Amino acid sequence: MLSLLMLDVRTLAFVSSLGGFLMAVTMAGIYFAGLRNRASLAWSAAGLAMGLGYLVGHLLQTVPVPMPAWQAGALANALIGLSYGLILVGVQYYLAYRPWIIPVVVLTLLGLLSSFLFPELRDSLRLRIMVLSGWYIVMLAGAGWLLWRAYRPGMRFYYRAAALVLFAYAGFLLLRMTYAVFSAALTTSFVQDPLQLANFLLSMMFSFSITMALAVMLFREKQVELQQLAQRDPLTGMNNRLSLEQFSRQAMEQARLGGLPLSIMLFDLDHFKQINDRFGHQAGDALLKVVAGRLEQVKRASDTSFRFGGEEFLVLLPGAKAEQAGEVAERYRQILSEEPISLSAETVMLTASFGVVEWDGQESWDDLLGRADKALYQAKHGGRDRVVS
Ligand code: GH3
Ligand code: MG
Ligand code: MG
Repeated sequence: MLSLLMLDVRTLAFVSSLGGFLMAVTMAGIYFAGLRNRASLAWSAAGLAMGLGYLVGHLLQTVPVPMPAWQAGALANALIGLSYGLILVGVQYYLAYRPWIIPVVVLTLLGLLSSFLFPELRDSLRLRIMVLSGWYIVMLAGAGWLLWRAYRPGMRFYYRAAALVLFAYAGFLLLRMTYAVFSAALTTSFVQDPLQLANFLLSMMFSFSITMALAVMLFREKQVELQQLAQRDPLTGMNNRLSLEQFSRQAMEQARLGGLPLSIMLFDLDHFKQINDRFGHQAGDALLKVVAGRLEQVKRASDTSFRFGGEEFLVLLPGAKAEQAGEVAERYRQILSEEPISLSAETVMLTASFGVVEWDGQESWDDLLGRADKALYQAKHGGRDRVVS
């Protein structure tokens, strides 16, 4: 079936080598395009080693090489082993584990020297396949295992896709090793038997698909990171106004589906301009952080808080009727107004005015917000430091 494709192992070795160089260039490109983590560098080096390893393997069969064939073979195998080791090191960098640099270097050197050190390896293809496959499988399956277990929000699918590519190839190597151990007929690497063809076909597919999987993973990670950054307020670490659009839509949708109430609480700190004028803008910033921290402590886990504007905050309270939301607001108002906040030199009394409204199940988000704003305005005009619901 494979020979029907008219493929031969030399060509496949050459294409695998191109796959390795493609990985090197892609990962270096990703690094220089701005995703500057060591993982992309390690993977670029892995691609280079893979490209060189298969190139040596290819040349070995096509042109006279200036060294004995078994030495060139050991060099090719060591380079390929190095590339799998560097894939593992890259995964370790990427997931912030301690990288196995020294074991990978030692194994590569051992791989290079093995045929000098252990003549048995030179003589027995069976033994060579066993040792090499064992080494390769540990590196590839190790990298796959780390990715499979890793978790970051929004990333699991991408980690697991890369892990599956690694497992698939490691699984094939395991099959091949088992076959080599138990099969009576054992051929050298470059003979056109179906297993060797499959081996080189899969190594080619591996070099292409691992490049894709890792590149997509790196870009996805950056995208998730930027998305999170875009939804956070840098000063307080709270959700910002931009993220409110998505949260409010979801909250209204859930309230509608579940037939549950939904309330919002909008509040604005009182006379904050004066505080800035008296203590300075930096002190004002520090106060805003304290306010945000206290809000996190008071609100229920199901509520979501946002920095709505300069010193205006909004809380979504799913499942709360106006009355309950009013109670939360009242509790928070009391905590703010009764516990002075100490700055480095002085203590400051802060108060805030609150507008609390319950969604009527029909009105638009803008209308709901408009009502909350009106209630807040009334709280201000009623003398501040109060809740209007
Ligand atoms: P009111 O009781 O009517 O709300 O009086 P106010 O002084 O708080 O008035 P307003 O809400 O209109 O003023 C907001 C002030 O908050 C203006 C600005 O100096 C200050 N402010 C807004 N954003 C920030 C910020 O990020 N840091 C600091 N330090 N101050 C801010
Ligand atoms: Mg204010
Ligand atoms: Mg304001």
